[in-house]
Amino acid sequence: MKEPKKIRIAIDGPAASGKSTTARLVAKKLGYLHIDTGSMYRAITLKALRETIDASDEQQIVALAQRCRVELEPSEFGNRLFLDGKDSTSDIRLPRVTSMVSLVSSYQGVRDILVREQRRMSAAGRVVLEGRDIGTVVLPDAEVKIFMIADVGERARRRKKQLALAGIDADEKKLVRDIEERDKKDSTRHMSPLQKASDAIELDTSNLTIDEQVDFIFAKAQSIINWV
Ligand code: C5P
Repeated sequence: MKEPKKIRIAIDGPAASGKSTTARLVAKKLGYLHIDTGSMYRAITLKALRETIDASDEQQIVALAQRCRVELEPSEFGNRLFLDGKDSTSDIRLPRVTSMVSLVSSYQGVRDILVREQRRMSAAGRVVLEGRDIGTVVLPDAEVKIFMIADVGERARRRKKQLALAGIDADEKKLVRDIEERDKKDSTRHMSPLQKASDAIELDTSNLTIDEQVDFIFAKAQSIINWV
């Protein structure tokens, strides 16, 4: 009997489009590794904050990225992120990190280091990577490429719910502004901007449930995995 194919699934899309939850559940259903590349950029940003390094100092930020140890460890509730050996899963989501991460991730030197690591982690296949440049730069030959989009109002509502679960009461209008600002920075930057790969499938999740999103990608993946 032929061995099932070990494929790579790339999921890209703007902020708060539901990529992480979807990618995590697709990976779980397939028994694949989930790699949240945004968390890696966040980890470098957190380290810069911890070491009070000015984020606009590109040289220093790249040097910091070189000496930074970022590890993802799968757990039942999603990946845990370790920064230089310390569990920083919650800290990388702090608002201070979120507002600085687009600048840190715009530096080519930072991207080179993380993209190399992301390709190394994906080399054996059986992975679901999510981010902004997976289908265009990190894995341009990924077997499944999805570009997730959703109405910004809906994305803000989902983010508000997520924050409420963590006990944080966020203002929806401010969430809309923050999301739009981050999307703008990520889409207009010179290096690896957020953009849909020409061969990616666009998935508008504005009116879809998480289960529907997961099932759609799972079915696509299965058709390739079992294709002989
Ligand atoms: O996915 P998440 O919102 O956690 O990503 C945080 C930030 O990291 C993004 O706003 C973007 O600036 C950066 N990023 C990136 N390339 C990726 C993933 C994330 O530039 N592949």
